[in-house]
Amino acid sequence: MKILPYGGAGEIGGNKILLETAKARVFLDFGVPFDRGEGIYSGFDFLDPRDKLGLRDYFEFGMEPEIPGLYSEEALKYSKLKYKAPEFDALLISHIHCDHFGDVVDVDPKIPVYLGHGAKKLNDTFNTIYYSFKSEDNGNVVEYQSGKSFKIKDIEVTPMHVDHSIPGAYGFIIKTPEGNIAYTGDYRFHGFKPEMTEDFIRLAKKTGIDWLITEGTRVKTSTDVDFRKKITEQDVEDQFCDTIKKSKGITCMQFSFRNVDRVRSLYNATKRAGKVLLCNPGFAYTVDNAGQLVSGLPEIKGNKNLKIYKKDGDIPDDEKRHLKYAAPYEKDAVDYKWVKKNLNDVVMFMSASELSQLIDIQPGKGTFVYSMSEHYIEGEEHEDYKACLENWLAHFGMDFEQIHCSGHSDMEGVQHMIDGCAPKTVIPVHTQNPEEFKKMHGNVILMERGKAVKI
Ligand SMILES: [Zn+2]
Ligand SMILES: [Zn+2]
Repeated sequence: MKILPYGGAGEIGGNKILLETAKARVFLDFGVPFDRGEGIYSGFDFLDPRDKLGLRDYFEFGMEPEIPGLYSEEALKYSKLKYKAPEFDALLISHIHCDHFGDVVDVDPKIPVYLGHGAKKLNDTFNTIYYSFKSEDNGNVVEYQSGKSFKIKDIEVTPMHVDHSIPGAYGFIIKTPEGNIAYTGDYRFHGFKPEMTEDFIRLAKKTGIDWLITEGTRVKTSTDVDFRKKITEQDVEDQFCDTIKKSKGITCMQFSFRNVDRVRSLYNATKRAGKVLLCNPGFAYTVDNAGQLVSGLPEIKGNKNLKIYKKDGDIPDDEKRHLKYAAPYEKDAVDYKWVKKNLNDVVMFMSASELSQLIDIQPGKGTFVYSMSEHYIEGEEHEDYKACLENWLAHFGMDFEQIHCSGHSDMEGVQHMIDGCAPKTVIPVHTQNPEEFKKMHGNVILMERGKAVKI
C-alpha cells in the first residue's frame, strides 16, 4: 500500500493525501494550501487565476496537482489534462475548513465525497450566509456519522469525532488488508469537548494502529509564543467576562462565527457580566442551525440577553435578495441609535467588514477584543491589518485586547495523541516541523509533497 501527499506534507494545511491499497484509492481530505499562488499572484491586486477557465491557470503554475481520472469535465474543459472516467473511489473529508475541503468542488461528481453529518449541515448554513463565496462540494456527498463504519472496496472506515475550532470535525480509523491507519484531521484537547478527541484515541487504541497520520500545527512553531500558555476555551470565556466587566463603555468582539465554540463563550461571558449581546443575522442564523451540534448555545428568539443589530442602509438591493434568511431576525432588530443610548450595557459582535458601524455608533470609549488568530501578533502579512485596526481604535478612543485560544493541540497534546494511539509508526502532516516528531516517537516517516511513500 502507499501514501502520496499532494498537499499537507511539511506545511500547515492543504491536506490532500492519497491512500492507495490493492483495490481502493481514496483521498484523506482535499484542501486548499495556504501558500497557493504565493509568488505568482500574491504581488498583484488585480490579477487572479481565471476561475472561468476551470483548472487551466492552476495547472500552469502547479497550484493544483494534475491527476488523471479525478477532476470533473467542467473543471478540465480548458486545460491540457483530458477528462478520464474516475480512477478514485472516494474523498474522506475530516471537516469543512478550507484547508481540508476547499478544492472538492473541482472533483468529478461521479466520485463520492464523504462528509460528516454535522459538517454538511454547517456547510449548508455558511453557504446560505456567505452566498458570494460558497464553499461547495461536488454534488455527490455521502454523509457519515461518528462511530458508524462503512466499507470502500478493501478498506473499512470508522469516522470518530474530535474537538476542533469548528463543530463537525472527525478523524478516521481505517482498516486495510495490510494494517490499520488512524488519521486525526485537526484536533485539540482544550475546547469545550476534549472528551471527543479522547474517544478518537480510545477507538484507535482498541483497533490497534500500525500508522498514525497526525497533525502537528503547534509542534514547535514560532508563531506559538503567546499561545504556548495553556489557554482553554473556558479561559477565553472567563477572560471575555472580565474584560466586559472592566470596559469603560461598549465592548466589541471580533472573530469568525464559524468558530461556534467561541460564539458560546461570548454569549456566556456577556450573560455572566449582566450585559446584552448584539449580533448580526448571520451570527443568529448560525446559532439556530448549529444548536444540535454544540450544546449550550443560546436561544435567539425571546432572549433578553441577546439582540439583533441591523446595519443602516448600506446593503445594496441585489445583495438583499440573497439574504432571505436574515429577514425573520431583522423584525425586532435594533440600530446604531439604540446602541448609542445603551453603550455601557452592550457587547457587540463585530466582523472586520462591520467596523464602519463605529462611525455611526461613535462609541467615544470602550474596548475592542480581537479573538481570532495567533498569527496576528507575529505574522508579517497581518501587519497592515493590525496597523489599520489600531488607527480605527485610536480614532474612536477604544482600548485593544487580544483573547484567544488555538484550534489545535499544543505539543504535549500531540504527544498524548501519539502515546494514546500507540502506533507502530507516526506520519506527521499539517506541520512545518515534521523532524520534531522524531523526538516524540521512535519510528517516524517523513513525507514530501508529491512523493509517494510505500508502507
Ligand atoms: Zn487544518
Ligand atoms: Zn481545521
